[in-house]
This record gives sequence, structure tokens and C-alpha cells, in this order.
Amino acid sequence: MINHIELERASFLTDLKCPECGTTHNSAVVNTVCVNCASTLFAQYNLHTGISKDILTGRPATMWRYKEFLPVIDEKHIVTLGEGFTPILPVKNLKKFTGDNEVFWKDESGNPTGSFKARGISAAVSKAKELGIQVIATPTAGNAGGALAAYAASAGIQAIVYMPKQTPQVFKDECHLYGAQLVEIDGNISDCGKLVNEQAALNNWFQVSTLKEPYRLEGKKTMGYEIAEQFNWQLPDVIFYPTGGGTGLIGIWKAFDELEQLGWIDSKRPRMVAVQSASCDGIVKAFHAGQTVSDFTDGGFTIANGLRVPKPYADKVILKVLRQSNGNAITITDEEMSAAVKEIAKTEGLLFAPEGAALWQAYKKLKATQWVKSGEKVLLLNTGSGYKYLENII
Ligand SMILES: *Cc1c(COP(=O)(O)O)cnc(C)c1O
Ligand SMILES: [Zn+2]
Repeated sequence: MINHIELERASFLTDLKCPECGTTHNSAVVNTVCVNCASTLFAQYNLHTGISKDILTGRPATMWRYKEFLPVIDEKHIVTLGEGFTPILPVKNLKKFTGDNEVFWKDESGNPTGSFKARGISAAVSKAKELGIQVIATPTAGNAGGALAAYAASAGIQAIVYMPKQTPQVFKDECHLYGAQLVEIDGNISDCGKLVNEQAALNNWFQVSTLKEPYRLEGKKTMGYEIAEQFNWQLPDVIFYPTGGGTGLIGIWKAFDELEQLGWIDSKRPRMVAVQSASCDGIVKAFHAGQTVSDFTDGGFTIANGLRVPKPYADKVILKVLRQSNGNAITITDEEMSAAVKEIAKTEGLLFAPEGAALWQAYKKLKATQWVKSGEKVLLLNTGSGYKYLENII
């Protein structure tokens, strides 16, 4: 058991480790990627404390209920707007499609700024505040920009957001309203990434670009903690995830690892399914071709702007997780996503982002081929609110 004095330190964070070359990095200073090989860094925690899951009893219904396994050392630096601990809802009126599968949505649409990006950004902005950072910049396909703008406002930090011009207006408006500086780019998120990179170096901005900063991953991993806790520490058989940069997929997998080390779950793992837009399917292609990295792939506009990531920085890790889990990868077209948004709204009363609605079509396809087997328990992660996408859905 841990003693009282240790309990006053919110986090069990130790250092950061490179999963590729093993180099450790000091977590008390600002970090980006591995100094040796440029891989994404993974935060490490002291998980051998014999700590019981009873600590969660009575904790607030936000992702910070897992504060021991999040990177903020001093609780006063936590920047929270109530993110996380989102509901898991059973598929109800669409049951005629699910046969004897138990199928659930984990609905992230109620998060601050309407998407699960709130989780990663809450963790990253909190840690940045703890480390004394004053300006944070990011490239975004939409939702990360809004989330950064909101959390930075709350933290008293300046946010700078680079976003493709083609993104629906609401994503731009929210950045302005939250006081961020918005730069619209005639290009995709990769183009935004290159430009932010140049400007950040010139102006000494801190960047929270997906998986080039270690703590957004930590925020998103809390979905894995919640999936375990909300299913009473029995993981589902299959989890479907809409894959852009892959933070949630990698984070959930990391969470399950940590929970096993804590002794809170056993070694059974779900099969992880990456769902991509047909216009941006680099991971799906690489997975089925047996490649360990993906090729740059961009077929242009998709209504699922969160999935238009032509070359995820952590493609290697995404592909590793899919293979380790005996998972799968599948694409869905814009027409199919749009139809699914409408079908789910009309029957279940839930207005999902196209990224999340895509999972419903992916599930039906993999059930039809019997890759999802009868009797299996399935979780579909709806990552955002459909309200932000109406101009492209209706
Ligand atoms: C960003 C985003 C995704 C993709 O998340 P990654 O962590 O980049 O894979 C999926 N859905 C929505 C709604 C998003 O905003
Ligand atoms: Zn390395």
C-alpha cells in the first residue's frame, strides 16, 4: 500500500520512454519526441504500488478521477472543463442489425467543445501550464483546434491554431470565440503541420501536434480506463475506432497495459479495428499490405475531417497495435457515413459526428463477413458531436 505522504502527490508519473529505442527522458522538463529517434514518447508511471481500484469510489465523473495515472504532478495545475467519464449506451432501436452481439456506443459527444479531443488537450494544456509554457500552437483538422482554444483560454495561455480552409465554419468560429489566433491554410492537415512547425521554431511556440507531444496521448488513454471501469473491469471483445492520427487507439491500448500492470484487469484484450474514410485510407492499405509504415495518402475532401490525416506521425505504432490485437482495418465512404449519421439520429436519438457514425457501417460490414462473431460484445467509439458537421450532412 502507498502511504499518506505519497498520496498528496497527484501523479505516479516517473519518466518518459521511447517505445522504439528505449531512451528515457526526464519528465520534469518540456519534451516533444524522442531526442534519439524522433518516435512518440510514452509517459511511464509507478504502477507497482499495490493501489486498489477502491480509490475511484466517490471521485468526480471526469477523466481526472484517474489522476494518479495522468501526468500532472501538482493538482492545482489541472485545467478541467468537465471532460471524460462519458456514457456507454447500448444500441437499442437498431438491434435488428446486431443479432446476438451486445453492441454499445461510448458517446464522446458530450465532452467540452463537442469531441473527445477535450481529453487529450486537457492533459496537454495542464502539463504545459505546470511546465510554465505560455504559447501553444497546433495544426488541426477541426476539433483539436476548438479544444485547444477553450482549454488555453481557461489556463490563461495563448493558443494558435492552423486549420484547413475547407473545414466547416463552426470549427473556425469556436476558435475565435475562445480567443485563439486562427490561421486558415489552403491545404490539408499535413500542410498545416509544416507551416506550424516553421513558425513555432521562429517564434518559440510550444506545439501539441498529434503524437509529437507526449501528453495528449495520456488524456485520450483515459477512454481505456473508463471502458474497463464502466464494463466492471471486463473488456469488450471488439473495439471500433475512427483513426486519424491514432491517438485514441494507441492510448486505449496503453491504458489496458497499465491496468493489467496495476492488477485491475487480466491479460484478455479486445480486437482493435481502425476505421478510416475511403478518401484517406493509408492505415487500412498498409495494414492489409502487411507494411509496418503507411504511405502518404490523401484523396481530398471528406465530411469526416477528423479522419483526413494523410500520414499519421505514429503510423508504425497504430499498425503494431492493430496486429498485436488481431484487429482489422476498414474504410467507409462519405455517402455511407452520411447515411449512418441520419439512421442513428432517427432511430436512437443520437446525433453523431460522421467519424463516429462510420463505425456503425464498419461494424455491420465486419459482422456480415463474420469477422465479428456471434455472441461477441462490441464497443463503437463515437468521438464527436454531429452538431458541428451539419453544413456537410444535411
Ligand atoms: C480527431 C478526431 C478523430 C481521430 O482521432 P485521432 O486520435 O487523431 O485518431 C476522430 N473523430 C473525431 C470527431 C475527431 O475530431
Ligand atoms: Zn527513440
